[in-house]
Amino acid sequence: MKLTKMPLASFGVALALSAALAQTRSTEFSAGQHLAREIFQQLIEINTTDSVGDCTAAANAMAERLKTAGFPNEDVKVLGPHPRKGNLVVRLRVTGARKPILLLAHLDVVEAKREDWSFDPFKFLEKDGYYYGRGASDDKAMAAIFVANLIRFKQEGFKPDRDIIVALTADEEGGDYNGVEWLLKNHPQLIEAEFGMNEGGGGAARNGKKLFNAVQASEKVYQSFLLEVKNKGGHSSRPVKDNAIYHLATALQRLAGFDFPVNLNEVTRAYFERVSKLESGETAAAMKGVIQNPPDAKSVAYLENLPAYNATMRTTCVATMLQAGHAENALPQTARATVNCRILPTETAEVTRETLVKVINDSRVAITPIKEPKPSPPSPLSAEVMKPIEAITRQMWPGVPVVPVMSTGATDSLYLRKMGIPMYGTSGVFGDIDDSRAHGKDERIGVKEFYDGQEYLYRLVKAFASANSNQRQAAGK
Ligand SMILES: [Zn+2]
Repeated sequence: MKLTKMPLASFGVALALSAALAQTRSTEFSAGQHLAREIFQQLIEINTTDSVGDCTAAANAMAERLKTAGFPNEDVKVLGPHPRKGNLVVRLRVTGARKPILLLAHLDVVEAKREDWSFDPFKFLEKDGYYYGRGASDDKAMAAIFVANLIRFKQEGFKPDRDIIVALTADEEGGDYNGVEWLLKNHPQLIEAEFGMNEGGGGAARNGKKLFNAVQASEKVYQSFLLEVKNKGGHSSRPVKDNAIYHLATALQRLAGFDFPVNLNEVTRAYFERVSKLESGETAAAMKGVIQNPPDAKSVAYLENLPAYNATMRTTCVATMLQAGHAENALPQTARATVNCRILPTETAEVTRETLVKVINDSRVAITPIKEPKPSPPSPLSAEVMKPIEAITRQMWPGVPVVPVMSTGATDSLYLRKMGIPMYGTSGVFGDIDDSRAHGKDERIGVKEFYDGQEYLYRLVKAFASANSNQRQAAGK
């Protein structure tokens, strides 16, 4: 156990204090923080990449801690389809009247090379107010916080009115053994819940100023298409106009000039409405314009130049790979392009394909889906979920609004949403929106932000798992 560099000098002192004092909130808080940091360090230092890492080792380490903290063996499970791809599922069991809630985080991390980083990515490092390491922000902070808080609930004798399930899973970032998908298929009863929380949201800050607390309630659907042109080919010394590469190039030119229609849903409408109050000038005005029905054309024209906002208001499809021809001196017999689409959750892959067919308007270009899409419905912005989030955000960061968001990328929430379990991305961990290092070099999380996130998730899970607290919060609104 390493206590050096612990930001909470009070912890060691607190141990020596009287039992009465040890009951004070601040002392408990310090102990809880210390535990979270220790778990966080342990998780970061267990390599969980797909290539050489081991999620089972991380899952077992957490299982051991939970059992030591008094969780019975039958409520702490490590299971999975591959020796290195274990998932941890733990349940704080009560005879609660309501269906469980699920706290989900992934154990695996994106590859990280020592030579690409300023330090060893698999060595936990605290420096200048940040914790560094692969997985620091994606997604080991949440995993550590969920485990530490669950142990804290147990130690405090907290009696929720519903089971609290923590699932830490493998292969969110890639790999062949996605833990959530596997658990839903093989052990659904272990993680069935009324709703759950996951990554995908979090606090957005800029230059130290907190902008908003994002709640991810929806995500786009990932679907690539293959565009393919076949041709009989021939000798390149006798070219003809009927050329596979030219036909494909024309098709891509048409795609380049096309924009899918603007189509807002409950989540993205609320997003633009709330972010318009944080933005200023033309951007704010355009956001107010785009939520009109029908959307104001000038506002759309302005926002579509801003990639994040453009991707929020419509389906997008973009050419990402090209491959054509078989020899320098031959007419091409095949020309192929990969087009990657991010489809709004209220639209379908088939309708998107039909739109591509119409836009490209050339029967020589075959357009076929690559792999099956995994559509997931947006989660409803219900009062049961949003009210505690808003109340706790007000308590902790007065004046900072809660903003529902739709991810343009994908998270594991999609598997649960597809099965009818609403999922919400919320962490209370703030990060600079202009300096996201997830998947990149020198990944990090602010030290204070980490503990704030821990406190936020502690309060939020408590609110979700105690009917009285929910009623109080609803009444006190
Ligand atoms: Zn992640």
